[in-house]
Amino acid sequence: MVSPCLKTSPTVVIVGSGMASLTAACLLAKDGFSVKVIEQNYLPGGCTSSYWRKGFVFESGATTLVGLQQGMPLHYLLQQIGIEIPAWKLDLPMQVHLKNGQIVNRYQELEAWIREVERIFGKKNQRAFWQFCYRVSQFVWQTSLKQTAFPPATLSDWWLCATRATIRQLSYARYAFFSMEYLLKKFDLLDNLPFVEFVNEQLLITAQNYLNEVNILFGATALCYTNYDNFYVQGGLIHLVQPLVNYLQSKGSEVILREKVEKIIRKSKHYEVQTNKGSYIADFIISGIPINNTLQIYEGTHSQKFAKKLLQSEYLHSAFQMGIGFKLEEENLKHLPPNCIHFQIHLPQPLTEIGSKSIFVSLSHPKDITRSDYPNMRVASVSTHISHPAKYTSINKTQVEKEIIQILAQKKWLNPENIVYSHSSTQKSWEKWTGRMYGFVGGYPQYFRIKPWQMIEARLDHYKAYICGDTTYPGQGIPGTVLSGIIAYQKLKRDWF
Ligand SMILES: Cc1cc2nc3c(=O)[nH]c(=O)nc-3n(C[C@H](O)[C@H](O)[C@H](O)COP(=O)(O)OP(=O)(O)OC[C@H]3O[C@@H](n4cnc5c(N)ncnc54)[C@H](O)[C@@H]3O)c2cc1C
Repeated sequence: MVSPCLKTSPTVVIVGSGMASLTAACLLAKDGFSVKVIEQNYLPGGCTSSYWRKGFVFESGATTLVGLQQGMPLHYLLQQIGIEIPAWKLDLPMQVHLKNGQIVNRYQELEAWIREVERIFGKKNQRAFWQFCYRVSQFVWQTSLKQTAFPPATLSDWWLCATRATIRQLSYARYAFFSMEYLLKKFDLLDNLPFVEFVNEQLLITAQNYLNEVNILFGATALCYTNYDNFYVQGGLIHLVQPLVNYLQSKGSEVILREKVEKIIRKSKHYEVQTNKGSYIADFIISGIPINNTLQIYEGTHSQKFAKKLLQSEYLHSAFQMGIGFKLEEENLKHLPPNCIHFQIHLPQPLTEIGSKSIFVSLSHPKDITRSDYPNMRVASVSTHISHPAKYTSINKTQVEKEIIQILAQKKWLNPENIVYSHSSTQKSWEKWTGRMYGFVGGYPQYFRIKPWQMIEARLDHYKAYICGDTTYPGQGIPGTVLSGIIAYQKLKRDWF
């Protein structure tokens, strides 16, 4: 709680309403802060959201969801603010369709998964490799909420990290110094080329980079993403976001849509936040937008320190994304597994315009009738990476759409004649939807030279401005951004109350 000797609630302005911002906002509102979340878009949620178009509900970005299990960031957030999200646990978290036509079922249960991976890639050392990765992932999840002073930037952070550190944590920390490539070599799996390809494409969707760039702590955890409970939120991920917005409003805080923060000015004891519609005075600031964007609107005293950590377009990705609303036929049902909605498809030939070697396909849940106005319809979200988004801007969208539809039609998951509505987006649309520089999405990819303790931490100016989101520690995906929001909240509280 806010100190009882304060006469008025401290005010916090939070830039953007992505999952990181909303996490910090809800935790502060619960403690009595007066929070204003300012969002430039007409909907909250940023890359985790859904929108209604031509009779279908499309996901804005994220489609897979983990983190609702005990001890994980999203579970912690929801428990703290006392709300539940009606989510369906998935039987089979994902299927991977390899180039040679083989289908890999990413079973959640470790033993079943090891049997599956041995069936596909051979028995040699798979058991030991996956048991090791799973152990690392359990360690990472168990530690993440206990080390919220990490990455340490002040003496008190160092003190907290040290006093909370266990021998086990110190011994696992050494894995940040080794890459996933090293790990595969150690398990004598680097010559197993189909397996290497599999690992690379899986890491690309969870760590945003390949095995030579991803350290073992992040990589092993990313690879075991499907060994934890995966969920589907009925009606789309906006139903994960909207309850958080409702919670904020119930606490007297606000989420202001269609207003863009243009400048943050530090005054002697407070901040002035200028938007395209007016201005606000705040005791505290939290930026929930990428550091690249944050530095454009806030020239705080310590921005130099971040300038060195900025990643520019050549190190980042945007996404080609396609939303398809289509009518299902009996024939499609025969070819679609009844218990799986997420698929990574590895392509025999890269997509011509973008060069992607895989696409990720998520379908609306077969039991979810709320994703369309029409009966017997499914919605597909298809996405793939676009590297160096500032450079490769002239993508022939029609050509990519054609190739994607062809892939889905070849699998007999849909009949192109039954597509009721489809549309696609590239970096230009992302720039508009999220305001993110270059339209880059998915956060900062993992780079081996950047160790976890060198990632961007939550304090923006070492005064009362903080930052969270997928360009700060611990990085990508909904679980990472929620954790970054928790860390910003906890650092703010520890620093000032
Ligand atoms: C195609 C795609 C697929 C993905 N798939 C998954 C997945 O399956 N599972 C998963 O866990 N993660 C996935 N992710 C990643 C995940 O969606 C993001 O990492 C996460 O949602 C980012 O949240 P954030 O809070 O950091 O930022 P954002 O979601 O970018 O939110 C920032 C918000 O700030 C607003 N904003 C920006 N500038 C301003 C300004 N000046 N003033 C006011 N508002 C502003 C934006 O409009 C936006 O709403 C995916 C991402 C993409 C793009």
